[in-house]
Amino acid sequence: MSSESPPILRLRPAVRRIEASAWKTLLRCREALRLTELPLPIPVEEWIESPLGYRFGVVRLPDGVLGQAFIEDREIEISDRIAHEGRFRFTCAHELGHQVLHRRRAREFIDSGVMLSEPDRRVEWEADRFAAALLMPIPLVIEQLFRLRDELGVRREQMPVLLQAGAHSLTLWRDTFVPAVARRFGVSKEVAVYRFGEIEFADGTPLMPAEHRPELIRRRAPRPQSNPPQANLFSGL
Ligand SMILES: [Zn+2]
Repeated sequence: MSSESPPILRLRPAVRRIEASAWKTLLRCREALRLTELPLPIPVEEWIESPLGYRFGVVRLPDGVLGQAFIEDREIEISDRIAHEGRFRFTCAHELGHQVLHRRRAREFIDSGVMLSEPDRRVEWEADRFAAALLMPIPLVIEQLFRLRDELGVRREQMPVLLQAGAHSLTLWRDTFVPAVARRFGVSKEVAVYRFGEIEFADGTPLMPAEHRPELIRRRAPRPQSNPPQANLFSGL
């Protein structure tokens, strides 16, 4: 695994069509703005308005509603209660996904949860996949993985460890690559982990061993006094 001979990576077939839509959307923005390359993090909230031409607002929405998309009015509204930048950006990209993919499916989409949609909730699952693809486009993920390797001082021979099961690999992902990738792409660590779960080699080997996923998205137990339990719409996001 080296930048001189990039590995042959692919997406699971189920996500390819959605990936293509997200990539097309990014290229459209890049061309409209005459950019030579895509900036990171992808400026999703700016691009929703211009050059994509949707009305966009960060507003007080009813309790529990994170975002909504109104197809006919070409409008996206995001809750002003979302404090975490990565969650905010993912919600923006999810609503954009409804606008791009689902214009004939419904007149409006009102979302109380994003990111965790199961494949049987097809429309929501598609909007989540679109959001992940828009915020973490595959060519940039691969490029940044190698760039981060150099920036973080990870030795070249360490890279194959990432593909392996076991504690060494888990530590490398958890302590080094997942936080750095999440920062660079402006997403939560959970989104980064899910995204790596969608990328695999041509022979079907996942880029990130599946066994790492539960460990990497495990949430710390809340402190009983200062952090009382509450309905958390973002659990897992
Ligand atoms: Zn939705």
